[in-house]
Amino acid sequence: MSKKKGGCAREHLFDRRDALSLLTRIGGLALSAGPARAKAKRLPVRPEDEGFMRLAIAEAAKGDFPFGAAIVREGKVVSTGRNLGVANNDPTAHGEMVAIRRFVADNPAKDLKGATLYTSGEPCPMCMGAIIWCGIGRVVYAASIEQLAKRLGQIMITSRAVAEAAPFLTVEITGGVLSAEALALFDKK
Ligand SMILES: [Zn+2]
Repeated sequence: MSKKKGGCAREHLFDRRDALSLLTRIGGLALSAGPARAKAKRLPVRPEDEGFMRLAIAEAAKGDFPFGAAIVREGKVVSTGRNLGVANNDPTAHGEMVAIRRFVADNPAKDLKGATLYTSGEPCPMCMGAIIWCGIGRVVYAASIEQLAKRLGQIMITSRAVAEAAPFLTVEITGGVLSAEALALFDKK
């Protein structure tokens, strides 16, 4: 019993240490999530965002799946794309990928640096990876991955999580712009 008690005491110690380390980790997570959220707040919806998002949503309405994107540079739309997964027999032909590929087909890829990508759905990890490799500086999305997952399968990794795993680039992310309109496209399909 006493041996067990001693064991318990040690276990408690470990428990406390584990709990502390867990709290620290949770705290760390909360801290790392905190500034990111704060940053999103610091970078709220801009006046021009809705107009460009409407363009992305109009693209989405024409897509094989209702996803569309528009790339904007210095206030001008330089590329658009919609999901062409069926048309192109290419499951990677997401709206964002199509918009990026269209742009680089005719322009130097370096011109994407600092551009803004508007997308009707939060970029999946593949698209977010492509966005980061292209140096796109800002992403504005309508429906979140969490919202989209209620309509069709999603890889449950947020665009922010992908961006935070890429220390060489800062991507500003603004979500929830016209999300109801983007989600309504799923009901029309
Ligand atoms: Zn994608």
